[in-house]
Amino acid sequence: MERLTGIGVSAGVAVGRAVILTQRTEVMRFPIPPDRVDREVQALHAARDQSRQQLQDITVRVAQGPGSELAALFDAQMLMLDDEMLIGQAEKIIRNERVNAAWAVHRAYEGLYELFSTMEDPYLRERENDVADVAGRLRMNLRHGARGPRELLSQIDGPSILIADELTASVAAQLDWSRVQGFATDAGSRTYHTAILARSLKVPAIAGLHDASLRVAAGTPVVLDGTTGELVISPTPDVIEESQRRAARPGRRGTMTGEPGPITTTDGVRIRLEANIELLEDLEYLNEYGAEGVGLYRSEFMLSGRALETVTEDEQYRMYRSLIEQVAPRPVTIRTFDVDERQAGRDQHRPERRRTRPGLRGLRLGLANPDILRAQLRALVRASAHGPLRIMFPFVTGVEEVRQAREMLRESGADANRIKVGAMIEVPSAALAADLMAPDVDFFTIGTNDLIQYCLAVDRTDDRVSDLYEPLHPSVLRLIRTVRRPAALHRIPESECAEMASDPALVGLLVGLGLTEF
Ligand code: PEP
Ligand code: MG
Repeated sequence: MERLTGIGVSAGVAVGRAVILTQRTEVMRFPIPPDRVDREVQALHAARDQSRQQLQDITVRVAQGPGSELAALFDAQMLMLDDEMLIGQAEKIIRNERVNAAWAVHRAYEGLYELFSTMEDPYLRERENDVADVAGRLRMNLRHGARGPRELLSQIDGPSILIADELTASVAAQLDWSRVQGFATDAGSRTYHTAILARSLKVPAIAGLHDASLRVAAGTPVVLDGTTGELVISPTPDVIEESQRRAARPGRRGTMTGEPGPITTTDGVRIRLEANIELLEDLEYLNEYGAEGVGLYRSEFMLSGRALETVTEDEQYRMYRSLIEQVAPRPVTIRTFDVDERQAGRDQHRPERRRTRPGLRGLRLGLANPDILRAQLRALVRASAHGPLRIMFPFVTGVEEVRQAREMLRESGADANRIKVGAMIEVPSAALAADLMAPDVDFFTIGTNDLIQYCLAVDRTDDRVSDLYEPLHPSVLRLIRTVRRPAALHRIPESECAEMASDPALVGLLVGLGLTEF
């Protein structure tokens, strides 16, 4: 029996056999003797056939479920499997350089990547993600003839625990969580977007385990405790029995004491509690927990990995309207897309990490691509006819950006009296310029998930520095305090919408700093 300790990111206990998912592709290169060349080429073709079959299955499954329009994405990937520049080129590399097929696929992919990344057309440039996905699938199938995570997991008998080096929110959203009891990742922290999703789905999870995906052999029984962050490998029968008992009990985060309703501190300060929403299904908990509205809807979750350009104004309008109608008469705060420029960067295998880097992200990306931001604002303005709406801009760094965004909103036909407009304070420059920004916004929302990472220069998804991610660092607390005075002076509400607000010990501190809305 061995115990690994990471960060418990979603409460609850799960017991099952380990399934290992390795997403970071470290491709091995090795020379092959002349008599193995044909075998390697055959393996390449077999991997292509297997990949095609998997993609067909995925297309059928996606077409039947919610988000059926995503199915077309996989058609494009199937076409790539027939592209001479990928498979044909890889075959040439195997024959000419006498190297293993996985390496040849990697080389051919790099050539294609170069080609796509220099394209002017953003739609075509976006395809580089598909090429990366297809090449990754081919390599995975070449590695052990293994199949994709979902296919693999669907064939497992009995409850399983997924242990991955990293797990993107879009992959996690597609898994069948009735079979997978919980997951643990080498990467990540409490604010990892997949961790946030796990809490929405009420799936026990641990992040930041560094190398668990290498240390745990597939099929080994494990116990995962998402409350304490402990992963027990090959537990003794006693430990399993005790864990199963605990697994049957509701998790810490799944319980609530007292009646839902208005909350006041013991000294009479009124506290307002709203919900963070990633999926529409989350709305069912609103009443249960007495939320007074939706404080943050992360609109990028509706993309499910799609390119921004592909989501139409009408599709957005329907989604926002449904959200607003279900929450009305309580208000909904919808945050405009907070993604980074997915075409930028070469780190194709770590989309989750790329999002957290400074760069063209959030409102900056929206202002650089005004057609996309305008379409979203128009959809929001239309949806606002159906209930109270607040629009929030992410990744704001200064007052000019807010003014430009407000102007675009005005051009979209927004009635300034009806829609409240706020800025997220999640970059230190925004906190320090809060006094300049206050006259131009209706509310501030502090986002300490990012504020901490940018203040302390700690990538929030990097497990190697997760111990330096310190919400109580004096610099972080000073930044939070900096926002209080301008908010009070201009009488604009100020809330905190990040994970800090879900920690009972830290909430007390935030109340002490003058925050009353979470
Ligand atoms: C934040 O940065 O604190 C926040 C709430 O936004 P996200 O976690 O989506 O970056
Ligand atoms: Mg943020």
